[in-house]
Amino acid sequence: MNFARTLLSIKDLEIDYPSRDGHGRVTAVKSLYLNLGQGEIGCLLGSSGCGKSTVLRAICGFEHIKAGEIQLRDKVVSSLSFHLPPNQRRVGMVFQDFALFPHLNVLENIAFGLQHLPSQQRSSVAMEWLKRVSLSDKAEAYPHELSGGQQQRVALARAMAPEPDLILLDEPFSSLDIELRERLASEMREILKANNITALLVTHDQYESFAIADKIGVMSEGKVVQWNTPYELYHKPVNRYVADFIGRGVFVKGIVQPNNKVRIELGELQLDNDHSKDVGKEIDVLLRADDIQHDDHSPMQAEVVRKTFRGADFLYVLKLASGIEIYAFVPSHHDHAIGEKIGIALAIDHVVTF
Ligand code: ADP
Ligand code: MG
Repeated sequence: MNFARTLLSIKDLEIDYPSRDGHGRVTAVKSLYLNLGQGEIGCLLGSSGCGKSTVLRAICGFEHIKAGEIQLRDKVVSSLSFHLPPNQRRVGMVFQDFALFPHLNVLENIAFGLQHLPSQQRSSVAMEWLKRVSLSDKAEAYPHELSGGQQQRVALARAMAPEPDLILLDEPFSSLDIELRERLASEMREILKANNITALLVTHDQYESFAIADKIGVMSEGKVVQWNTPYELYHKPVNRYVADFIGRGVFVKGIVQPNNKVRIELGELQLDNDHSKDVGKEIDVLLRADDIQHDDHSPMQAEVVRKTFRGADFLYVLKLASGIEIYAFVPSHHDHAIGEKIGIALAIDHVVTF
């Protein structure tokens, strides 16, 4: 998969809008780079207003760009001097609210994008795509008769049916129940993978992005801060912003020791990289909830400050002797009371420091 041919390549992209007062321009996207291989699923992850939808609209061709370049299949589709019209880009889009036609049934919705085919073939192709999203029995149903998750699958089938090179999805789960989102994200991943479809979605929810994407770009203020696999983002965040955004964690102070070790309140940790020049210096060490294990027999104690039941485990907020609060996932049969002191131990693979 790493050697997949590049399908989408964005270089140094900049997009701005007229400012609200009408006198100047405001930058929405700046110095944005990304590469997506054929068959890969990418995700732009960032908080509201960071420029995610603007990037998708620019790839579709709905937005003109101010600088940089967008290439699809090694052909420039957007640059300062060239703009390929949206209908010639072979890019499909799934909108946040699915935008199904309410007066057309499910099969007609999917067939809508197949005007280039003779009418008989149109419904057999539409039926085929309906099968691929496991909704063959809903061909005659109208959108309002379907659940949110089913409507979303119809929207996906409609986008896939004309066989575009790339499908873009703008916050495809945000209008669905929170409990459903992660499951639907992995379901959608299976459908996209089974059909070898290249997709780029945007979301503000890291669990969704982890469930669906091969590569994630963490965005901040119009830039992709880090473009990487979910695993690398979690274990090797390039800066504090990414570390803060991904996973639940806190930064604690540490003092660098000889032999590439760092001493924190909870003990000594081995560092991955060379810190021989920093001995004696103070650095920040990231402690995530899964770095802390609960062990009834550990001499190291922390006080339970808050806890959230999550089914299989609790998310505990624990106060250390110094007053610093850290997080820990604890199996839910360890139901300790608020205020109680419990034993903890460190279980860190990669130490992340800044
Ligand atoms: P996101 O999808 O990440 O929430 P957007 O791409 O929608 O972010 O917006 C990025 C920035 O550009 C925001 O500050 C937003 O207010 C601004 N913006 C988006 N669309 C327009 C527009 N049509 N006119 C002016 N400003 C816009
Ligand atoms: Mg948006």
